[in-house]
Amino acid sequence: MSSEKRIAICPGSFDPITLGHLNIIRRSAQIFDEVVVCVMPNAAKTTPMFTIDERMDMVRRAVVRYPNVTVETSDILLAEFAKRYEHAVLVKGLRAASDFDYEFQMNLINKKINPDLETMFLTASEKYTFLSSSVVREMAKYQADLTGLVPNELIPDIEEKARTWRKN
Ligand code: ADP
Repeated sequence: MSSEKRIAICPGSFDPITLGHLNIIRRSAQIFDEVVVCVMPNAAKTTPMFTIDERMDMVRRAVVRYPNVTVETSDILLAEFAKRYEHAVLVKGLRAASDFDYEFQMNLINKKINPDLETMFLTASEKYTFLSSSVVREMAKYQADLTGLVPNELIPDIEEKARTWRKN
């Protein structure tokens, strides 16, 4: 049996991290030796609520109790970033059929760039299938209660940011 460490890369924009993301990260940390959460700038999305540094800081605080999880960012394509790790697979969460269509396409593109890179999917926990960062941003904007959507310790940060963000 090989002694090489199996590494999962959990990519996303995490703007901000939700309990849905954290559920996928926690389950990956149980399956793999190490998990690298990669906070992507994601230029395709509209203006982010949080900067990369703020998003990384929030992810770090959310995963502090998982000793085999680290947080990185990448300004290169994810399929290129993954080449830095010898035995890494991408792990993504699937919420709905719409996620599947997008992820299937992304997987084909990633394979073209890095043919050795595999992607694995974990189905979203039933209680988080409706949850996305955009839902959290929208609710924060209207001062709705964020309990049960994001880690409790991050709620003050998100509420504070929403106060200034609302004015935009
Ligand atoms: P969002 O769609 O919330 O903006 P990201 O682009 O940061 O999230 O997504 C990163 C990864 O996390 C993707 O693989 C996405 O499918 C997964 N993910 C996001 N929200 C959830 C959730 N509620 N349950 C399971 N997986 C999720």
